[in-house]
Amino acid sequence: ASLARIREVDGQVRAFLTVDEEGARERAEALDRERVESDQRGILFGLPAGIKDNICTEGLKTTCASRLLANYEPIYSATVMKKLEQAQAVTVGKMNMDEFAMGSSTENSGFHPTYNPWDLSRVPGGSSGGSAAAVAAGEVYFALGSDTGGSIRQPAAYCGVVGLKPTYGRVSRFGLVAFASSLDQIGPLTKNVEDAAYVLQAIAGHDPMDSTSADVEVPDYLSALTGDVKGLKVAVPKEMMGEGIDPGVREKVQQALRVLESLGAVIEEVSLPHSEYAVATYYLLAPAEASSNLARYDGVRYGVRVEADSLVEMYKQTRSQGFGSEVKRRIMLGTYSLSSGYYDAYYLKAQKVRTLIKQDFDRVFEQYDVIVGPTAPTTAFKIGEKVDDPLTMYLNDILTIPVNLAGLPAISVPCGLSDGLPVGLQIIGKAFDESTVLRVAHAYE
Ligand code: GLN
Repeated sequence: ASLARIREVDGQVRAFLTVDEEGARERAEALDRERVESDQRGILFGLPAGIKDNICTEGLKTTCASRLLANYEPIYSATVMKKLEQAQAVTVGKMNMDEFAMGSSTENSGFHPTYNPWDLSRVPGGSSGGSAAAVAAGEVYFALGSDTGGSIRQPAAYCGVVGLKPTYGRVSRFGLVAFASSLDQIGPLTKNVEDAAYVLQAIAGHDPMDSTSADVEVPDYLSALTGDVKGLKVAVPKEMMGEGIDPGVREKVQQALRVLESLGAVIEEVSLPHSEYAVATYYLLAPAEASSNLARYDGVRYGVRVEADSLVEMYKQTRSQGFGSEVKRRIMLGTYSLSSGYYDAYYLKAQKVRTLIKQDFDRVFEQYDVIVGPTAPTTAFKIGEKVDDPLTMYLNDILTIPVNLAGLPAISVPCGLSDGLPVGLQIIGKAFDESTVLRVAHAYE
């Protein structure tokens, strides 16, 4: 059914970079042949999955939507892929994204854009736009994305699906192609909250192959979905509901807050005073880490090589022709801010502000169980609207970035339509408390 649906709609949605028709059929048929007793089945038994193309899949192309990696087939699979296999999911293919996960619209893909299934003239969000669009269009049952500054939550909001960014360290990054290593985290995009709990259950847990993965016990997420939020304390940061938030979005979020209140939650306004510096901080730290992580694409070790007369010329030609303009912009920004003479003024200072942003959250979480607001300031924008204006594009992540800087878990869950386009409600939790985030999202939904 998944393959048939892809054939039917992906010519228009263009969510996939690679459809592994043969692999998917073989795997599904093998699961069918094994006739596993229902009580012995993996928790994702037989479910067709789409995988963001920055997650390594052994023998299946993993391009990061970059021309530089157009031919790259990993020789190993990411830990999350091994876990999906144990859970008996079926990988159907690899999803489009902004190149190396840099962007908020999937227009920065080195191959082609993805179109929002709700309105094909609009972006699906990004950078996990292919993952979100494929779930929204019914091409896969669930997808994996990665979230460095909002790339799971924002496309989930724009496509009217659920997107969960786990706590930093909750899900192994082994085999996730690194963009900004101190921020990146893999998570599920699904049709509903219960599905998100299932997928998180399958992929979470400590991994000795990832030194930043946390050795923290994984609770039973399904049993967290009690529907009960009575007495739960919900903080609404005034910075997330003020200037710059589209009135239609604000109204839907306010309605959602009233729903939570009617379920017995206690809603109060709070402040996250340093959040206004989050975008600036992020756009120093993320490019700095990216400039270092992307140094490995030299035409020798991975992907495409542009031949030239000398080694240095080969590096230059490979990187000039292989990377798109957003990736180049970030490598330059990052290299600059890490240079001697600028390091203290920019990189080090940004690290200090990151701590202040995190402390704002710590303070609020001394008194509250969750923080709630919109996922993005607007609904899905038109293709081409922001692509030539990187600063406007960066500002779109103003509500999601602080969460990555603080390393916290957060979900985006649909909360109605504004002018016919989906709005996302963002629920942020304490570190490693995905259970409460899921419980609130599920009760609301
Ligand atoms: N849009 C943000 C960026 O361009 C976030 C991307 C992400 O989360 N991968 O960096």
